[in-house]
Amino acid sequence: MGVGVVLAAAGSSQRMGGGTNKILLPLEGTPILAYSLSTFAQCPFVAQIVIVARREDMAAVEGLAQEWGKKVSVVEGGRERQESVYLGLQALGPDIEWVLVHDAARPFVTQEMIENVLAACKEHSAATVAVPVTDTIKVVEGDLVQKTLPRDKLWAVQTPQAFLRELLVSAHQSAAAEGVIVTDDCALVERFGGRVVVVSGDYSNIKITTAADLGRGGGKVAAPLIGYGFDVHRMVTGRRLVLAGVEIPYELGLLGHSDADVAAHAVSDALLGAAGLGDIGDLFPDTDPKYAGADSMVLLGEVVQLLNEHGLRPWNVDLTIVAQKPKLSPWKDKMRRGLGKVLGLPESRVGLKFTTTEGLGFTGRGEGIAAHAVVSLIKV
Ligand code: MG
Repeated sequence: MGVGVVLAAAGSSQRMGGGTNKILLPLEGTPILAYSLSTFAQCPFVAQIVIVARREDMAAVEGLAQEWGKKVSVVEGGRERQESVYLGLQALGPDIEWVLVHDAARPFVTQEMIENVLAACKEHSAATVAVPVTDTIKVVEGDLVQKTLPRDKLWAVQTPQAFLRELLVSAHQSAAAEGVIVTDDCALVERFGGRVVVVSGDYSNIKITTAADLGRGGGKVAAPLIGYGFDVHRMVTGRRLVLAGVEIPYELGLLGHSDADVAAHAVSDALLGAAGLGDIGDLFPDTDPKYAGADSMVLLGEVVQLLNEHGLRPWNVDLTIVAQKPKLSPWKDKMRRGLGKVLGLPESRVGLKFTTTEGLGFTGRGEGIAAHAVVSLIKV
């Protein structure tokens, strides 16, 4: 009798930011969903996989499923995870006797975990992968601790979870009839009197929940690419003052071959540094008349384009502009919006700060403006 898999991929990713479903975001250049999909698809004993996806992700998910042929199909999910899993169960063929339910947001599931949880399920009808809790857990009401739970009995439950199919289907049917909603499938079986066995999982089997998790994963994920850029331009009369693409009315401006946008230059250098692609001096030499008076935000756009050609995309930027005068805060929102647009980033991932140097040094004397930028890149 066959083993089927329901891969839950219909989460709304509210904690992730951005509009993209997290299971489609790249981890080391591969969509998160593709990791667990290929692990299950390569299990010789898995006969069928049903991916439950959001309507808006159907095309993208079907594209990933195609690689595995008829073994993998995609169905549209429901409002809650529980309803989505139920819809997935209904799409499994009549030969499937055992079901594995897995969250697509856990990319680091291994074949060993799958085999262990399935073996336990075949003996006890329901089993889950879990790890002992390492933090101390307290029950809190309002902001007051009510009690501390004894840690030796606490386990953090993960997926995959494995079930005798008819047991899980009847638990879902009862829950639907009674309007009960829980957060994992074992809880349904427990609620209707079933016994669930725990199998030791692995702390690396994390659920990708926030953007920060994209950089985690038991050492399997390379560190993100980080770049730093620094630039200075001299303040003179008779020049425009342009910072991050915004022209600021002031009696002095910045001297340079291009528009001398020191902020755009620092960000460009940070991007090129992170990608190992040199600096803007290499790319746009100030001896080339083509760049005389150039709009540095357009050049920044060309840097982003070059990164794209190398399979890289900015993830966030943090920029500090060092100027004694003029006061820059009125232009802050406009600068952030402009940078976000050129870098293809939501404003939440564009950091911008202004500082003086308390009258010290060349910036303090108003002889020049400096800018420091740090960026991170992801592979796409
Ligand atoms: Mg410069």
